[in-house]
Amino acid sequence: MIEHHAVLHTCQWLEKQGFEVTYLPVDEFGLVNPKDVEAAITNQTILISIMAANNEIGTIEPIPEIGRIAHEHKIIFHCDAVQAVGAIPVNVDSWNVDMLSLSGHKFHGPKGVGALYIRTGTKVDQFMHGGAQERGRRATTENVPGIVGMAAALEKAANNLEENGIRLTYLRDKLIHGILDTIPYTRLNGHALQRLPGNVNVSIQYIEGEALLLRLDLAGIAGSSGSACTSGSLDPSHVLLAIGLPHEVAHGSLRLSLTDTNTEEEVDEVLRVLPQIVENLRAMSPMYDDFINGKK
Ligand SMILES: *Cc1c(COP(=O)(O)O)cnc(C)c1O
Repeated sequence: MIEHHAVLHTCQWLEKQGFEVTYLPVDEFGLVNPKDVEAAITNQTILISIMAANNEIGTIEPIPEIGRIAHEHKIIFHCDAVQAVGAIPVNVDSWNVDMLSLSGHKFHGPKGVGALYIRTGTKVDQFMHGGAQERGRRATTENVPGIVGMAAALEKAANNLEENGIRLTYLRDKLIHGILDTIPYTRLNGHALQRLPGNVNVSIQYIEGEALLLRLDLAGIAGSSGSACTSGSLDPSHVLLAIGLPHEVAHGSLRLSLTDTNTEEEVDEVLRVLPQIVENLRAMSPMYDDFINGKK
């Protein structure tokens, strides 16, 4: 239920073609329970697809366990690892995945380039017609500069994986604890530990996420509310609803993503600026007014 639209919308399209799709729930931290995966398997099941890590709340899923289940039942297992590649160790063998997707721009590679790993022996239909490129799987002349750029970015990310992971985890936790400790009525979304090193997602109650983003932008801070790919849409995030947040709390969510170019000074700047912005917005908020009056 918390997959990226890249997978969810594809599943919806498959349903229109007559396939039956099971959407597994997640717990309050956004974790898929491997037992639910196993229980959902029928003799008709041909594919399992679970993301390695969630793009909004950063939760890292128990992929090795799910892979083992898929393997035991001889079902093809695809993993959307777009958030994981370049951020945490990824291993198609120990994870038991048959297909794994990644996207170049998520680890500082060029936009418009990604890759699908396909385990030898896994049969896939042609993805685009019109040529025999990529052994007949994907027509069109290959985008060589994009491919080379992505490989170079991946090499760099992979070489610095451990070092970046340690540093980003420190910055992430400083940001999370700083926000939760100084701003009342806030909560962390996602799992505290099973979490991408660079992901911060908090709900700040009694304010609108979009208003918060505008104020942060004026202060030179880029954040997002919900998913970056759905910005402009005012619907609450399907991920935050799936972990059980009420609509109004989902609307007041803030995601801050950290990468290797971010500094501790930037984290300190956010922690200096954010409490004041939240206080100002709450002072104008009828929701906050009602809440405070209700308490009195
Ligand atoms: C960004 C993202 C995608 C989509 O990748 P694009 O190359 O940006 O279209 C898919 N899944 C996840 C988990 C993502 O974070």
